[in-house]
Amino acid sequence: MVKAEGVHKSFGAVQVLKGIDLEVAPREVFCLIGPSGSGKSTFLRCINHLEKINSGRLYVDGELVGYRQKGDKLYELRDREVAEKRRDIGMVFQRFNLFPHMTAVENVMEAPVQVKHESKAVARERALKLLDRVGLSDKAGSYPSQLSGGQQQRVAIARALAMEPKLMLFDEPTSALDPELVGDVLDVMRGLAEDGMTMVVVTHEMGFAREVGDSVVFMDDGVVVESGHPREVLTNPRHERTKSFLSKVL
Ligand code: ATP
Ligand code: MG
Repeated sequence: MVKAEGVHKSFGAVQVLKGIDLEVAPREVFCLIGPSGSGKSTFLRCINHLEKINSGRLYVDGELVGYRQKGDKLYELRDREVAEKRRDIGMVFQRFNLFPHMTAVENVMEAPVQVKHESKAVARERALKLLDRVGLSDKAGSYPSQLSGGQQQRVAIARALAMEPKLMLFDEPTSALDPELVGDVLDVMRGLAEDGMTMVVVTHEMGFAREVGDSVVFMDDGVVVESGHPREVLTNPRHERTKSFLSKVL
C-alpha cells in the first residue's frame, strides 16, 4: 500500500530523510517510532502529499506520490490532481483541528459534502454511523468545546474515515491527551485495525505497537535503523540506538 525507495527530503540545507526504504502491506498496522526530530512526521507528510520528496521513489497503492510517469519521464502532478489523491488518505494529527463552529456530526459530514458533493442526507447518515463506531453516538450534536480531548480525537478519526480512505495516517494521535483519555482512542484504532484498515501510526504508545502493530520501524536521524515484528524490535532490539531509545520510553 505504501512503498518507499531511497526517499530523501531536505529543508534547505537540512537533510531530514536520508534514504528511507520501507514497505507497508495492505491491511497492515505499521508503527513508526523514534526520537524527536528523527523525521517521522515529515515522512507521513510526504506520503500525504504535504511535502515533496527530493529524491527516491514513494508509492501509495502502486502510484507515484506527486508525479505521473510517462515512459521514462516524470511529470509533477497539478494541485488539483494532488488534492484528488489526498482524498484517499486519512490523516489524524496530535491536535484534533476540528471546526469549532460545527457540531460533531457536521464536522464528520463536511468533507463528503464539500469535496465529494454528496447529498447532506447521505453524508449525515454515514457520519452518524461513524460516530457510533467511535463510541460517540450520543455526542453527534455537541460542539468540539463541549467534548473532551479524547472525544474530539475520536470525532477527528470519524471525520477522516468519512472520506472512505484506503490508508490512514496517524501522527501521535494520543500524545496531547490526558492519560485517562488515551485508552478510548487506542481502542478505536484497534477496532479499525481489526476491520482491516491499512494504518501507518507514529506513536509513543509501545503497548499499542506491541499488541496491534504488525510491524515496527525504528527511525533515527532520517534513516530506518531497525524494522521487523514488534516482538523482535521492541523486546529484542539488535541495534544500540534502538536499545537506548527503548530504554527511555518503555
Ligand atoms: P517529533 O517526535 O518531535 O514529532 P519527528 O520525528 O516527527 O519529531 P519531524 O517533525 O519530521 O520529526 O522533523 C524532523 C526535522 O525536520 C526536525 O529537525 C525539524 O526541525 C525539521 N523540519 C520539519 N519540518 C520542517 C520545515 N517545514 N522546515 C524546516 N525544517 C523542518
Ligand atoms: Mg512528529
